[in-house]
Amino acid sequence: MARPRGTRGTDVRPEGGWPDWGDPQAIRQLQEAMRGGQVAHAYLISGPAGVGKAELARALAQAICCTATDRDDPAIPCGDCRACRNVLRGAHPDVESIDLATQAALAERPARGMNLGIDAVRRLRASAALLPLEAERRVVIIDDAETMLEPAQQALLKLLEEPPPFVVLILLTDEPEAMLTTVRSRCRPVVVRPMPERTVRESLMRQGVEPELAAEIARLSRGCGAWARAAATDKKLLQARRDEWERAQSWVAAPPYDRLVTAYRLGEEFGKRRAGAVGVVQAAIQVLRLAMLRAAGAGESGDDDLAASGDPGTAVAIGRGVSASMQCLRDLDANVRPRLALEAMVLAWPNPESLSS
Ligand SMILES: [Zn+2]
Repeated sequence: MARPRGTRGTDVRPEGGWPDWGDPQAIRQLQEAMRGGQVAHAYLISGPAGVGKAELARALAQAICCTATDRDDPAIPCGDCRACRNVLRGAHPDVESIDLATQAALAERPARGMNLGIDAVRRLRASAALLPLEAERRVVIIDDAETMLEPAQQALLKLLEEPPPFVVLILLTDEPEAMLTTVRSRCRPVVVRPMPERTVRESLMRQGVEPELAAEIARLSRGCGAWARAAATDKKLLQARRDEWERAQSWVAAPPYDRLVTAYRLGEEFGKRRAGAVGVVQAAIQVLRLAMLRAAGAGESGDDDLAASGDPGTAVAIGRGVSASMQCLRDLDANVRPRLALEAMVLAWPNPESLSS
């Protein structure tokens, strides 16, 4: 049988298996469970959007379903058997997944601003009760799990309390704290962390992305490899992040009064576009960090010329601004009033003059 081809007729090899850009610690945790025959009934995989949670869940599903009995390591799917390929294209009968987009497609409604509903959870429960058809287990993946309101989570809890012996339930979420404690306590936690910029950049280059673009995408990725891969082919996705970066740069470079005005506006925006506003703050932290590295004489590339021009006092002052900005992110998470958190942050930023290189 012919191998499935990449989209648009190109010869891109379909990916799958454990991503080379993924968090090695999270990957090892899942692989070791597989090797030891200790795969849990339920996992809660958490980490920022685009960090690769779905890719890790899919790799685990492949490892569980792979039919290549001669492989040396049960944790590494062969990637080539029919089961592996079917998991990859979402067509394996024993791997079921649901997220906001598929729920919306089933309901013929737009996905934006929706919640995973109780109907979707009931359907999954019914499907989890079926015996596996081809693999030894059934894998049920719930993405966007944080969007489940309490009734949906309660319905899910019933499945978690008495899981059929052959089911592996994998919840994926950007916001584990949005899950009920009772749900969380029944899942084995897997935390997926962002990776260093270099890891993301090198992985993109191995994919054939031009070095310059790879470097830019890696810088904008915040260490999230799945986002980076998507951005390499999706211009809109990339442009939105570029805009955030530019907003952050001019915000940080502005005089104190203008910084406050921007903080005020962003605070207003926060209610409508939380992710966008948080994105600008994250980008501002990155801009400050780069300025701090420059001031400390440690250029991104460890350039010797830069090392000679360091200014430790300025680096410390910028460092305080970075800490205050990290605090702002935590405050936003903790639902402190956005405007207050943002204003406190910009008041702690160093003079714009000290930031110019
Ligand atoms: Zn296989």
